Amino acid sequence: MNKADSERMSGILQKMGYELAQEELKADLILYNTCTIRDNAQQKVYSYLGRQAKRKKLDPHLKIIIAGCLAQQEGETLLRRVPEIDLVMGPQHANRLETLLNQVDNGHQVLATDEQHIYEDITTARRESAICGWVNIIYGCNERCTYCVVPSVRGKEQSREPQAIKNEIKELAKIGYKEITLLGQNIDAYGRDFKAERYNQSRQLTLSYLLEFIHDIDGIERIRFATSHPRYFTKELIDVCAKLPKVCEHFHIPFQSGSNKILKNMARGYTIQKYKEIINYIKQIMPESSITADAIVAFPGETNDEFEETLSIIEDIKFDLVNTAAYSPRPNTPASSWPNQLSERIKIDRLREINKLVEKIAKERNIRYKGSSQEILIENVNSKNSSQLMGRTRTNRLTFFPRSSSNGTLHKPGEIVNIRIDEIRPFSLTGSLI
Ligand code: SAH
Ligand code: SF4
Repeated sequence: MNKADSERMSGILQKMGYELAQEELKADLILYNTCTIRDNAQQKVYSYLGRQAKRKKLDPHLKIIIAGCLAQQEGETLLRRVPEIDLVMGPQHANRLETLLNQVDNGHQVLATDEQHIYEDITTARRESAICGWVNIIYGCNERCTYCVVPSVRGKEQSREPQAIKNEIKELAKIGYKEITLLGQNIDAYGRDFKAERYNQSRQLTLSYLLEFIHDIDGIERIRFATSHPRYFTKELIDVCAKLPKVCEHFHIPFQSGSNKILKNMARGYTIQKYKEIINYIKQIMPESSITADAIVAFPGETNDEFEETLSIIEDIKFDLVNTAAYSPRPNTPASSWPNQLSERIKIDRLREINKLVEKIAKERNIRYKGSSQEILIENVNSKNSSQLMGRTRTNRLTFFPRSSSNGTLHKPGEIVNIRIDEIRPFSLTGSLI
C-alpha cells in the first residue's frame, strides 16, 4: 500500500518537473513516505529526518515533506519536533501533493491531516516495475483490531468505482503491463461502503464482482489481490478465483494468532475454526494454491500454550510463507494500555522460534516444485547476477533462471516462459528454461 502511494506521489512530482536525484543528501526536495505499523518503522523516520533537518540549516531552499501514516499519526507534533519540515501530509492526501506543494512554494508550512474523500486517481503513477502494477481498489479500514494503528491513520473505507479501476488497468495494459495486483487493507471488504441504491443492479458490488468485471482486459495475463481478511472472505470468492483463468493461485490471508482467546482479545471477528474452513475450501477447490499469512507473537497476555497454538496452525496448514512480527504497542490503540504486556525477551524468543518453523515449512512446501514445470512471468534481471532473470510462479514464488535458452534465444522482462525447477530454497527457486 505504501509503495503504491509512493509511486503515485512520485508520478505527481515527475509531472511537476522534478527529476529523481541520485543522492539523498543532494536532493532539492525530500519526501519520506512513512510507516507506523510498528515502532521500529517509526524510529527510522526520525533518524533520517535528523540528517535532512541539519542540511536545511545550510540550504534553506531544501523542501522536506513527511507523508504517510507516521505523518498522520504525529501531525503537529512532527512540526514542533522538527520545525524544518515544510509539509506533513497523511496518506489520504497523497493525490493532492501538487496542491499542497504549491502552498509550500507560497511560503506556508503545511499540515494536511484532515479526513479526506480520496480524489479519484487523476495522476499517473511513476511505477517501479514496467511489468507488474499495483492498483488500489479500496482505501482505509473499518475494523478495530486492538493492536492496530491503521484505521486511525488511513481512515474509513473508501472503495473506488469499478469503471475507474478498469480504466486504470486498461491504461496499464496499453503500455505493456502484464500483471496487476489489486490493493486494499481488507480487500474482500471491497464495495461495502457503496450504497446499494446507487447501482441499479441485482448483484452486489463485491470483490468477486470486480474480478469478473476487470478480468478480460487484453494484455493483462495475471491478476492478484491483497490483503484478505478472514472475516469477509467468502466461498463465492474462491469459486470465482477458480473460474477466472487470469486470477493467480495465491491467497494471502492473515490469521494473526492460532488461539481463539487471543483472536478475541485482538477483536479479529473470527475463530480459528472459521479460518481453517476457508483454507480447507481453497485446498479443495484450488489445490495447487499457495497460502500465505501474517501472524503476531507475544500479544499482551499470550501464554506459552497460546503461542504453541499459533505454531501448530502453521504446522497444520503448511503455509508457503508467514510474515511474522512481535507485538509492538502503538499509540491510541486499546492493547497498548493493557497491563499484561510481555517482555522483550519473550518477544525475541517467540519470534525466533516461529521464524524457524516458518522457514522449515516453506522449504517443505517447495518440494512440490522440484522437477516441475512452472509458468513464470519475467519481471527483471536478477540484481545479484546479471546472467539470470527473475520472475514469479503463479503461486508467487520468486524464481531465478538463466537469461538465454539452449538455442541461444535471449529472454526479456514481460515474457511468460516455462521453467523447470531444479533447485529449491525456503523462499525462492532456481530453474532452467524449457
Ligand atoms: N489489514 C490486514 C493487515 C494490515 S497490517 C489484516 O488485517 O490482516 C499488516 C500486518 O502488520 C498485520 O497483518 C499484522 O500482522 C501486523 N501488525 C499490525 N499491527 C501490529 C502491531 N501493533 N504489532 C505487530 N504487528 C502488527
Ligand atoms: Fe489493522 Fe485490523 Fe484493519 Fe488489518 S483489519 S488494517 S489489522 S485494524
